[in-house]
Amino acid sequence: MPEPIEEYAARVAAATDAGGRLPLDPDGVVGWDVFPFEVEGLRLKPAPTLVDGPEPPREGENPADCRCARPAGPEDPAGFVTVWQDEDWVLRAAPPSGAPVVLSLGTQAHLDVPDLSDAMAARFGLLHVALVAAVEALPSVGRCHHFRLGDGGAHAHWWFIARPARMPRLRGSFMVDWDDFLPPVPLAVRDENAAFVVEHLTARAGGTAVRS
Ligand SMILES: [Zn+2]
Repeated sequence: MPEPIEEYAARVAAATDAGGRLPLDPDGVVGWDVFPFEVEGLRLKPAPTLVDGPEPPREGENPADCRCARPAGPEDPAGFVTVWQDEDWVLRAAPPSGAPVVLSLGTQAHLDVPDLSDAMAARFGLLHVALVAAVEALPSVGRCHHFRLGDGGAHAHWWFIARPARMPRLRGSFMVDWDDFLPPVPLAVRDENAAFVVEHLTARAGGTAVRS
């Protein structure tokens, strides 16, 4: 029987100090070159504790409130623009941020990840690989980080974050944080990078470019 969460939480609590904080190991992640912060004076917030009840609701938990229930427009209120779609999938570009481009691949229908059919999962695999290849073909990009978190929005979506080339400090998972700290790329740069990715994606995987 896999470990219940109560035992997991008890082990975390047992590792905290009198203030409820876990120690920072200077030889751990805070010592890595990619760690964005200087360690002097840094401390963790109090350790997470167990709360009662179910997981908190995410945006769009009720399909009627999800963005997919609203009329489709070229740009949504959060500043995302639709750049590509096919029958089951839609690709959106995030508002300009520190990364050369940030893209979100989601389902047309209101589905969470465990709801995907095997056929959709297979198509998803092809799109995923094609998107990574397309983003990594951008001249300013060293790597495409791609992942799903799923804690914010209930509607299935995956992130593709272009990590700038030749900047070793941006390597690894902290690129997600650097994306907030770096100056946003100009809108025209975001658009040109997104259009490049869509051109490569369409050539390999079909679908239709959406021009705003
Ligand atoms: Zn939805």
